[in-house]
Amino acid sequence: MLVIASGNAGKVREFRSLLAHLPVELQSQPEGLEVEETGTTFAANARIKAVEVARRSGQWALADDSGLSVNALGGAPGVHSARYAATDPERIERLLQELGDATDRSALFCAALCVAAPDGELLLEVEGRCDGWITTAPRGDGGFGYDPVFEVGQSGITFAEMGPEQKRREGHRGRAFALLEPELQKLLLL
Ligand code: IMP
Repeated sequence: MLVIASGNAGKVREFRSLLAHLPVELQSQPEGLEVEETGTTFAANARIKAVEVARRSGQWALADDSGLSVNALGGAPGVHSARYAATDPERIERLLQELGDATDRSALFCAALCVAAPDGELLLEVEGRCDGWITTAPRGDGGFGYDPVFEVGQSGITFAEMGPEQKRREGHRGRAFALLEPELQKLLLL
């Protein structure tokens, strides 16, 4: 049994589909359990959530933390990506405004995943990354969050212009899961 340490229905659905073929029963985080993300790195926040939910539920727990770091903004919005403004369009607007006409538009999406045991032991920790650039205006209508302003590596297209398959292959979260999967499989078979 593995508890998905997230109260976000969309995220739980995504985790379920990514882990569908593993020999493990998945369960959502107990209702009403809120964990404060006090870490200064994605890995630290994933760890905090996984350990807390594992302790409270008495089961192995899987947590993630992700976000966008923009070099010219000293790594912002970083671990504050979700709280940068109230809505996705407002978050994008603030990002484009703060970046202005900066020539260095390089940025990095990062997804950290952590699996913890009920005694607080960290069983697995992985991080997936995706390099890219912040565009000067939004493009595309797929995805969510900062997808319309994040152009992926040398592809010339934004996450929002990619299909879900391509985003899973090239994106930070898909890469993190690709690293986690064989390790989790090994753990489950122990
Ligand atoms: P978390 O739920 O604490 O991991 O917050 C992640 C936040 O980072 C989201 O609310 C989005 O704003 C942003 N984010 C993370 N991954 C992506 C992505 O794949 N596309 C666009 N925005 C993302």
